[in-house]
Amino acid sequence: MSDGDSPPEEVVRWYKDHGYRFLVLSDHNVFTDPKALPASFTDSTFLLIPGEEVTSSFEKKPVHVNGLNIPGVINPQIDSTLLGTIQRNVDAIRKVNGAPHINHPNFGWAIDQATLLKVKNNNLLEIFNGHPLVHNHGGGGKPGLEEVWDFLLSSGSRMFGIAVDDAHHFKGEFGPTRANPGKGWIVARAHALDAREIIDNLEVGLFYASTGVELEDVKVEPTKMEIHIRQKSNFRYRTEFIGSGGKVLSLSVENPATFELKDERSYVRAKVVDSGGAVAWVQPVFIKQ
Ligand SMILES: [Zn+2]
Repeated sequence: MSDGDSPPEEVVRWYKDHGYRFLVLSDHNVFTDPKALPASFTDSTFLLIPGEEVTSSFEKKPVHVNGLNIPGVINPQIDSTLLGTIQRNVDAIRKVNGAPHINHPNFGWAIDQATLLKVKNNNLLEIFNGHPLVHNHGGGGKPGLEEVWDFLLSSGSRMFGIAVDDAHHFKGEFGPTRANPGKGWIVARAHALDAREIIDNLEVGLFYASTGVELEDVKVEPTKMEIHIRQKSNFRYRTEFIGSGGKVLSLSVENPATFELKDERSYVRAKVVDSGGAVAWVQPVFIKQ
C-alpha cells in the first residue's frame, strides 16, 4: 500500500522522463523491491535505490525515518521517549547496512533540535521537503530547518542537508498546495550509478541539495571554496557563505562565488539563491580548530 496516487512504475517513469539519474521510492512501511519492476525502468541511465519511510510515532506525533539502500522491509520501532523512538528506527536501518535520514522534523512539530542533536549515527537532515504541510520555514518561535541545521553544525554535529520531494501527487493539478514531484532534489558525486557509492558519498557530504538552482562544480581547497553556478537564461544569483550560528560571513554576486577559508571558523556552508527564489545548498566544509 502507498499513500501516493500512482504505482511505482509511473513514479519511476516521471523521474526518468524528467532527467533524474537515481531515485529512492520510500512508501510508509512498505518496501518496493527494484528487482520487481520491469527491467526497462531501471537501465544503465537510471538507478532505483531501495528504500522505505519507516513510519513510527511518539505520543501521536509523527516519527518518520527514511531507510536508504535497505535489503527489505523494516518494521517501525517504538520507545518510551521521543529520542529513543528516533534512535531505535535509525538503529534498525543501520543494522541492515542502510543509511537513515530523519524526515521533516517540523511535520506535526514533532522533533525539536535539542532532540535531533542527541541522535547518533544519523548524518542526513531534510532541510527542504516538498510536501506542503511540513513547515520547512518554522514559525511562531519554532526554528526553520535551515536554522536547525546551523544549530546542529554549530554544536559540533557533522550533518548534511538534503532536499526531497515527499511526492504523493503525480496526477491532476501541480501546485503549491499539492505534494508534487520535482520540488526538491540532490545532485551527488559518484563515478557510477552505484547505490553503495552514492549513499556512501551522501553520508560524507559529497552532494548538493536544490529546489531549482543547478551547479557546475563545487571546489574546496585548503584556503578557498569556489562555487560554479550553471547559468539559466538571464537569471541572477546571490550566494551566501554561512558559518557558526547561521551567521552570514560573506555575500557574493559573482559566478563563480568564492570564499577564503580562514582557520578560526568551525564550518562554512553556502546557499545560492536565484532571482526566482530557487535555492542550492552546498554542504558544509569543516575547518580544523
Ligand atoms: Zn513522512
